Amino acid sequence: MTTQTSPRPLTGRVAVITGASSGIGEASAEHLAELGARVAVLARRADRLDDLVARIDKAGGQALALAVDVTDAAAVRTAADRVAAELGDADLLFNNAGVMLPAPIEELATDQWQRQIDLNITGLMNAIAAFTSQLVRAAAERGVADLINTSSIAAQNIFPNFAVYSATKAYVTHLSRHLRVELGPKKVRVSAIEPGIVGTELQNHVTDQGALEWLEGSKQTLEWLTPQDIAQTIGFLASLPPRANLQQVTIMPTGQPS
Ligand code: NDP
Repeated sequence: MTTQTSPRPLTGRVAVITGASSGIGEASAEHLAELGARVAVLARRADRLDDLVARIDKAGGQALALAVDVTDAAAVRTAADRVAAELGDADLLFNNAGVMLPAPIEELATDQWQRQIDLNITGLMNAIAAFTSQLVRAAAERGVADLINTSSIAAQNIFPNFAVYSATKAYVTHLSRHLRVELGPKKVRVSAIEPGIVGTELQNHVTDQGALEWLEGSKQTLEWLTPQDIAQTIGFLASLPPRANLQQVTIMPTGQPS
């Protein structure tokens, strides 16, 4: 007996992707649209989102650009209202916007600590607050919905000078496990994706010299993941039968030890 898989398994679904103006979010928006989902793309850079929507439209998909700062709870709620009105209730939230600013703790880079906490934790929670009711409603109507949160291997592993970033990602992973237990019975699957190093703009924001040197060294010695590798993983998660929930996915560059 052979099984046939649809080339567009997400047809009829509505996906919201935060941090979609570059890197993992951008690639995932394009891929989820290729798989048939209508996508709403959120980030601050409107021009980048407009280019992305134009590319998705050209490829035959449907996309909605929503320029929002996810640390602004009211703005995210307004965006959620627009998604429901223009695309229908979201049944997939890829909660992905994040920033990584490593520095030795004794430097007291308190503004960078706060930026990471504001975006990686509060921004993530703002999206959960704005979209959970849509996910639950959509799951009741359509039989499945997905909340996929972007964590990191930093949630599990210990890296000197990455304490604050790693702690924000430990929050994301632990939160996801708890939400899975709460929302699973309502047919909302909850997953945490924990990538190793992916070549994106994330590394461009790093200012700490030691971390920059470590990143440059790793680039010379191993092949980093691409945003498309993560996008494919997100597409796979969302295309599984509704009974199957990958709760935590660690994806590493093959050559990255930890
Ligand atoms: P990028 O820097 O390329 O993407 C980050 C995205 O977040 C951008 O689209 C950015 O858009 C958006 N963003 C930043 N601030 C805000 C804000 N206040 N409101 C809304 N959107 C915002 O990096 P990645 O694609 O690598 O990062 C995506 C996620 O993956 C992050 O959570 C990161 O921690 C995680 N990750 C990345 C790894 C890597 O090695 N690259 C490894 C493990 C996890 P804009 O500036 O337009 O707002």
